Amino acid sequence: MSKVVIVTGGGRGIGAATAKLLAAKGYAVCVNYLANSARADDVVDCITHAGGRAFAHQADVSSETEVIHLFDATEAHFGPVTHLVNNAGVLFTQSKLVDIDLERFNQVLNSNVVSCFLCSREAVRRFKSGGVIVNVSSLASQTGSPFEYVDYAASKGAMDTLTKGLSREVAALGIRVNAVRPGFIYTDMHADGGEPGRVDRLAPQIPMQRGGTAEEVANTIAWLLSDEASYVTGSFIDVAGGR
Ligand code: NAP
Repeated sequence: MSKVVIVTGGGRGIGAATAKLLAAKGYAVCVNYLANSARADDVVDCITHAGGRAFAHQADVSSETEVIHLFDATEAHFGPVTHLVNNAGVLFTQSKLVDIDLERFNQVLNSNVVSCFLCSREAVRRFKSGGVIVNVSSLASQTGSPFEYVDYAASKGAMDTLTKGLSREVAALGIRVNAVRPGFIYTDMHADGGEPGRVDRLAPQIPMQRGGTAEEVANTIAWLLSDEASYVTGSFIDVAGGR
């Protein structure tokens, strides 16, 4: 069976690097995005010009209906989905917890955790003979991100628990579920938090003295998806320069 992967939030940052790497490794790739169609189309163009297979699909992965359509569309293009990368995520302006309103808190949980639940459930329901899921969590699940984004960190903590629990439920079905926990990675996300230069500011606090690249995270995701990680499930790999 050919390898078919959905990368949620595959149009930018870590998702885009992952989509390109997986396509180069022979996966047929669905590049999911929320709003930025131009960036998703760029990723697809890059893959197809290199001889790979990819298509872009708009879906809000916190919507049950749209997740079902996402999987239907991928199956229509490439056949059964065999791999899933739950990468889509958001954070908002740096803030203390006491200043976070309920609407924002719910939005972060919906975008980061409900999306992971919905896509994972759909994948498990549809996997034909085993399958692999990689969740893109964050080192924030360990630090709690005080004074910046406790809401975001809490959503990643929930993602870690979902990873562990689901991995144990489906291990006997031949389905592996793991997570990566990136540290400070150069992507657009830090501008969304209000500080585009955040990674450079924090680099001196990182044991390796630098931020990470999306490609370095993608390499780890690709390994966890691969048969080289065939006895690895319910595990977490920090991609954080020693933090
Ligand atoms: P990014 O550059 O901001 O990209 C986020 C991606 O998620 C975008 O492609 C966006 O789509 C998509 N997205 C957001 N909400 C969505 C939704 N509801 N439905 C579908 N797609 C949605 O972020 P990134 O830094 O690459 O982050 C990717 C993942 O890594 C996230 O889960 C993030 O929490 C995690 N992470 C990042 C860092 C870091 O330092 N950058 C560290 C730890 C963990 P559009 O392009 O359409 O907007």
